[in-house]
Amino acid sequence: MDRSRGVRSAVIVGAGVAGLTAATALARAGWQVEIAEVGPREAPSGWGLCLTGPSLRALDELGLADACLAEGYGMSTVTHMDVTGKPTGEAQLPRLIGARRPAMVGIARPVLHRILYAEAARCGVEIRHGVTVAAADQEGELVRVRLSDGTVRRVALLVGADGIRSSARGQLGLETSLDYHGQMVWRALVPRPSWATGIHQFAGKADTVGLVPLSDRQAYVFLTENGVERSLLPDAELASRLRQLLATFPGRVAELRSLVAASESVVRRPVLTAFLAGAWNRGSGVVIGDAAHAPAPQMASGAALAIEDGLVLAQEVGRHEAVGVGLRAFVGRRAQRCRTLVETSVTIAGLEQAQRHHEAHRLTDSCHRLMAGPA
Ligand SMILES: Cc1cc2nc3c(=O)[nH]c(=O)nc-3n(C[C@H](O)[C@H](O)[C@H](O)COP(=O)(O)OP(=O)(O)OC[C@H]3O[C@@H](n4cnc5c(N)ncnc54)[C@H](O)[C@@H]3O)c2cc1C
Repeated sequence: MDRSRGVRSAVIVGAGVAGLTAATALARAGWQVEIAEVGPREAPSGWGLCLTGPSLRALDELGLADACLAEGYGMSTVTHMDVTGKPTGEAQLPRLIGARRPAMVGIARPVLHRILYAEAARCGVEIRHGVTVAAADQEGELVRVRLSDGTVRRVALLVGADGIRSSARGQLGLETSLDYHGQMVWRALVPRPSWATGIHQFAGKADTVGLVPLSDRQAYVFLTENGVERSLLPDAELASRLRQLLATFPGRVAELRSLVAASESVVRRPVLTAFLAGAWNRGSGVVIGDAAHAPAPQMASGAALAIEDGLVLAQEVGRHEAVGVGLRAFVGRRAQRCRTLVETSVTIAGLEQAQRHHEAHRLTDSCHRLMAGPA
């Protein structure tokens, strides 16, 4: 084991939600941690996220929930509406960090990134940009990691936190498929309408629309386009195409449509899911976050699983002398929970496409209650 200076060392691939959280949790437990991030130092641009109860609970364990609530928009209610904007149901999500704090928070991606990044840096994590892992080989109890800049480290732990298209996964000899589910999801940043104090979701004849507050001033509109081929559109066409799709919704969505017209940030992504059905670990290497399990966005819980992974990983490798044993314990604790979430999110995507909205809402609510159980 790499205890030459009484410190165990780790290389983490990727400074996303999973990588930054795992780095902070490991560094706080005394590990020397370096992150290899292929992207630039600037925070990733993009719309926003809804962090549900399990995310907030895990962030609270890291002492970061209140920072997210201060900069994001705390809320507890999901209101379901029909295509005209008439309410058809309401769900109160479980408040997992106490009755006085909200059940979830909407937050801009760059803001969450800044909070997680600052905490990892404060804990002494070295974050290197523009580099990746070129090769990883097990040498006894250590992993020999060669970075793309030619430098080499021998570390006790290698963590692949490089997202759904993970390269680390292949380097560890772990394979999974990425599955497309006939849905493209749209997001557009807009000013927050004053009535948007929780999540609103509108069930259309073909597509689903929603609004998620991100701060007092900002929100994002989402639209799930059903039954479409996976395709790319030129950036310049995104706002006008989204407005066309929103035109089939009268009532409140018409108001959102006019806000989208002025939005400078519209993105469109395929709904892709992945789940590593076998081991997530090999020797002293492991994959976490979307690299191991990427749910469809309908459950708004991919980040929750990624943050929980970081915490549980640090707990389990801290609890066991041999890293490999800790990694097996980690996967043992996480696999069923993550599988349930990925599979349920795929079922919800199918129900949405079949216009079985009530069943989709019921399943979403019951899955949120299930996820309120321990990480
Ligand atoms: C449209 C959409 C909406 C979503 N909405 C929500 C939501 O509301 N709530 C929620 O909880 N989740 C949501 N998710 C899911 C959530 O974004 C992911 O689950 C979460 O970001 C996973 O974190 P991660 O760190 O595993 O991966 P990522 O966030 O993808 O981070 C991976 C990091 O690794 C880096 N990287 C990639 N390849 C390499 C490499 N070879 N070497 C080094 N670095 C590398 C990347 O640059 C990135 O920084 C949504 C996802 C999508 C697509």
